[in-house]
Amino acid sequence: MTTIGILGGGQLGYMLALAGYPLGLHFKFLDPSPEAPVGRIAHRVTAQFDDRKALEKLAAGIELVTYEFENVPVDSARFLEKLLPVLPAPVALEVAQDRLSEKQTFQKLGIATTEYAVPKVGDDPAHALKTVGYPAVIKTRRMGYDGKGQWKVESPEEFAAVRGELPKVPLIVERFVKFRRELSVLAVRSRTGEIAIYPLVENHHRAGILRLSLAPAARVAESTRHAAEEAARKVLEALEYVGVLAIEFFECDGKLLANEMAPRVHNSGHWTIEGAVTSQFENHLRAVMGWPLGSTAANGHSAMINLIGEVPETASVLGVEAGHLHLYGKAPRPGRKLGHFTVREDSAESLVERLRRLPPFFQRPEYCLSAATKAASERRA
Ligand code: AMP
Repeated sequence: MTTIGILGGGQLGYMLALAGYPLGLHFKFLDPSPEAPVGRIAHRVTAQFDDRKALEKLAAGIELVTYEFENVPVDSARFLEKLLPVLPAPVALEVAQDRLSEKQTFQKLGIATTEYAVPKVGDDPAHALKTVGYPAVIKTRRMGYDGKGQWKVESPEEFAAVRGELPKVPLIVERFVKFRRELSVLAVRSRTGEIAIYPLVENHHRAGILRLSLAPAARVAESTRHAAEEAARKVLEALEYVGVLAIEFFECDGKLLANEMAPRVHNSGHWTIEGAVTSQFENHLRAVMGWPLGSTAANGHSAMINLIGEVPETASVLGVEAGHLHLYGKAPRPGRKLGHFTVREDSAESLVERLRRLPPFFQRPEYCLSAATKAASERRA
């Protein structure tokens, strides 16, 4: 019996386990929350990530450790590494946990990023803002996600208004980019060194949270596809990375600027469950096991709609042909990712038609479905 240990027990871990059971794998999770979604389907240790006794308990009887949450303490990953393989290696966590080291890693590898400046730790970001110029986004270097720990400032007056609420933690100031759209690339590298890359995905956010992914992204220039794939390949190889890695980009003036990377399976890859030959979850498991990777080719066209803070009535969406509902078993709370709904069709045209006819629940602006119609009309242009 092969058991994989996973740090983090949220929906990403839940979907990893669902993908792993048909391959004969078993799972054991560590998560601080007694309500973690994986509790429904797998053995779970409920403890803080830095609890050494709990980490030893997790390590007992398992083959290797991976993670589904990038803010796992690096020290915990290094502690586990003395006991068994930890994949991806903890250096990936170290790089991705700090927006500065992430940007420096991109730059070292020749991958363009947004312009940025870093105030000295504890210093006010006024000087960094002068360097970068307005509009800008002030971000905490660590622990920010889904738009948390970010302040967009258009002018010195707006900066003056938020100055008092900035936390006394390391910050980074980025130029606010007027991008044409946001794209992400998901790539996977196996323990054997084999690499596979999914088609680029177009992502739409509201208030910093991903709402809609369209895959494969429409009208991707060959040079853009090549740049994204090369960026992924370089990061995978430089970090001797094992597993799925996501890089998020802004596309501006036909160029890609890397915004951030996630050393794990990613929300913008959920469409792969129904929309690709092999899902990101299955490929992550194949990679950490050193098994051959599965094809990353898309099966037609998919739209993945995140269910944030609310879910539709199950019966009301199960009638949607080509629709697939995924609920994570989490208690509803504003801003919380509770599930997702993927619609897959053979052609881009039938996907748009299907999205137009989705129940009224999805037709509100926050679901961004007009973006899918726009992408389709651009494709025709
Ligand atoms: P992040 O946490 O860095 O992924 O930011 C969340 C979202 O905020 C991104 O997906 C963008 O929609 C937006 N955002 C973050 N940084 C910038 C930036 N420098 N310029 C424009 N939009 C940004």
